[in-house]
Amino acid sequence: MTAKPITIVGGGLAGLTLGIGLRLQGVPVTVWEAGHYPRHRVCGEFISGRGQETLARLGLRGLLERAGAVSAATTAFFFGTQSAPPRPLPSRALCLSRFTMDHVLAVEFKKLGGDLRDGQRWRDEDFGEGTVRATGRRAEAMENGTRWFGLKVHARKVALMADLEMHVSPRGYVGLCRVEGGAVNVCGLFRRRADEDAAATNRREWLRGEPGSLLHRRLAAAEFEEDSFCAVAGISLRPQRAVARAECCIGDAITMIPPVTGNGMSMAFESAELAVSPLVAWSRGEMAWREARQQVANRCDATFGRRLAWAKWLQGMILTPSLQNVLVRFIAHSGWFWRTAFERTR
Ligand SMILES: Cc1cc2nc3c(=O)[nH]c(=O)nc-3n(C[C@H](O)[C@H](O)[C@H](O)COP(=O)(O)OP(=O)(O)OC[C@H]3O[C@@H](n4cnc5c(N)ncnc54)[C@H](O)[C@@H]3O)c2cc1C
Repeated sequence: MTAKPITIVGGGLAGLTLGIGLRLQGVPVTVWEAGHYPRHRVCGEFISGRGQETLARLGLRGLLERAGAVSAATTAFFFGTQSAPPRPLPSRALCLSRFTMDHVLAVEFKKLGGDLRDGQRWRDEDFGEGTVRATGRRAEAMENGTRWFGLKVHARKVALMADLEMHVSPRGYVGLCRVEGGAVNVCGLFRRRADEDAAATNRREWLRGEPGSLLHRRLAAAEFEEDSFCAVAGISLRPQRAVARAECCIGDAITMIPPVTGNGMSMAFESAELAVSPLVAWSRGEMAWREARQQVANRCDATFGRRLAWAKWLQGMILTPSLQNVLVRFIAHSGWFWRTAFERTR
């Protein structure tokens, strides 16, 4: 029997990784991607957690390393003018710009015989049999009276104290990490009350931190690479279950984990890998679509449920101004707290 083709809507990390996983099993795959490669994306560009094992199993880790991915071994937390000393990461992370990463994966997918329709938006409402939704986060204008938005820029002339610096403020947080070519990724998640005037502030400046803060000092001499600047709004961080989705979903199309964990890309890679064997079975006529979709959802929920619950708790703590002081002190003094928070959100 000839293998039935699979259509993946969305050529971000989840869609391309699934496409590669399916091509390695000989399944015909078409990926629809609305954008073009390479392009900058709002992302901390810090891959940490089990997704790195997925990349290794699919033969992609070496590809990213050869593209210049930087290994990260330490992190340090800052709140305003307070800092916790750098700590070793319980396991190493990999830092690579999305500009390079998505492009490298797209080239690999095509090399394996995948049909990539970039610059083409899928307009059908139907994500029926044989179609996988990998369209990324679902926009939500507001969450409990708050609007979330993300900003990213690459910068030069930034000296870091640790491979990943997390700067927390009452507005949100900004992460700094070195990516390929000596650039530093400056990426923040911020919140704005619904009644705040968006036009009143230059939001790009939010990435530089409050005057007087350690972030502001760190970026005092920084030169931003203007063409790398990007922004997203309408972010929803309320965890969702894959079984509750009507379509076969992977990556952020299921749900988004708070960026502070540095685990969203990992979940994109992992969910793609979890989807490969049920979808191969469907393609070979060994499983009904309904069962394949159910298996993908069950696998994702079983793998990510606990992680999402811990991440929601951590994000809540980090963004509660009265707890931010305590948190920085805790991270500074309690190796147990730091290790537990790191491990449970991965
Ligand atoms: C501020 C911020 C910081 C972050 N930092 C980190 C970090 O440091 N580490 C980490 O691991 N994660 C981080 N993340 C999360 C990470 O970026 C996402 O989890 C990851 O990109 C999810 O991959 P995805 O493939 O599911 O979605 P995406 O990468 O968003 O890809 C979805 C793709 O689908 C395409 N698409 C959408 N609709 C259509 C359509 N109708 N037709 C065709 N194509 C379509 C889009 O163009 C897009 O390319 C961060 C997120 C934010 C917002």
